[in-house]
Amino acid sequence: MSRVYNFSAGPAALPLDVLEQIEKDIFDWQGTGMSVMEVSHRGKEFVALAARSEANLRKLLSVPDDYAVIFPQGGATLQMAMVPMNLSAQGDIADYVVTGSWSKKAAGEAARFCKTNVAADSADRNYTYIPDETSWKRTDKAAYLHYTPNETIGGVEFHFVPGGDVPLVADMSSTILSRPIDVSRFGVIYAGAQKNIGPAGITLVIVKKELLDRARSSNPHLMTWKSYAESDSMTNTPPTFAWYVADLVFQWLLEQGGVETMALVNERKASKLYAAIDKSDFYSNPVAKDCRSWMNVPFVLADASLDAKFLQESHAAGLTNLKGHRSVGGMRASIYNAVSEEAVDALIAFMADFEKVNG
Ligand SMILES: *Cc1c(COP(=O)(O)O)cnc(C)c1O
Repeated sequence: MSRVYNFSAGPAALPLDVLEQIEKDIFDWQGTGMSVMEVSHRGKEFVALAARSEANLRKLLSVPDDYAVIFPQGGATLQMAMVPMNLSAQGDIADYVVTGSWSKKAAGEAARFCKTNVAADSADRNYTYIPDETSWKRTDKAAYLHYTPNETIGGVEFHFVPGGDVPLVADMSSTILSRPIDVSRFGVIYAGAQKNIGPAGITLVIVKKELLDRARSSNPHLMTWKSYAESDSMTNTPPTFAWYVADLVFQWLLEQGGVETMALVNERKASKLYAAIDKSDFYSNPVAKDCRSWMNVPFVLADASLDAKFLQESHAAGLTNLKGHRSVGGMRASIYNAVSEEAVDALIAFMADFEKVNG
């Protein structure tokens, strides 16, 4: 078996331990004589999986009892519509902080359902910083404030939680479970799975129960958080395989020591990669130092004509998916929970060698 170091932004690397468990389980899951893909989601084995995964997620993030934890489909992108459908009435105003591609997309989607106010926007410096919170132009009595704690494309991360007294809504797709968070500060947290949770196809939403009654009555059931909360996320057939893998990932995270341990490792991984970039004139990272992401590290080569060579040689060395997003250019290393420190060390060593030969 030969595994590469996978720096993909998403779908992203999964822990090898989890893949090995899947291999063990594939033909006969838990003595059922069937794979997990072939059992009823209402059978006792799968219902136990669903309950365990919720309990473990609650433990990992210390989710308070007055929050519901639900697992819809549709990814983070569907939540960009479900947020205004579940939290606003037509005519309400929702505030959006736009610090990159994903928050911009979220604001655009919400505008189909309610009025939106862009409270802050960092497009003027190509989304490489977070406008000072005191400069945000927030609406009085907004339905909610939405922001994206980690912009996956730009590599911009909030290392603080915004204040205010309206429900705070956060798209945590690419930062969830990378560190502890204080869930009680949020009204809604949502995340697509394919970065730090598991395979694409399942979505995590953590929502304060008192907000569940704000949903529009015209919403389809499958676009109503309350339907999921009332049915243990079995409003219809859930994505059972993706849920099963997410359950294994949550167990793996607990075995690693939980998100407290992940935070220590993640900060160390990110710091050494940024240090390697900053000390060289050959590589650079455009993001303001106080908001650099622990999860997605974009970097450009001073001589962009070497990009193709960098990508080709890094791939040949077993370091894959380093091409940056087309809106930023250069490279991007996504170093989620399942990307080991060893992988980051290998990348740093490759970068130094490449600079020596080409710099
Ligand atoms: C990947 C990503 C998305 C899109 O997720 P889908 O599950 O593909 O809808 C949205 N927001 C952020 C921050 C992301 O990283």
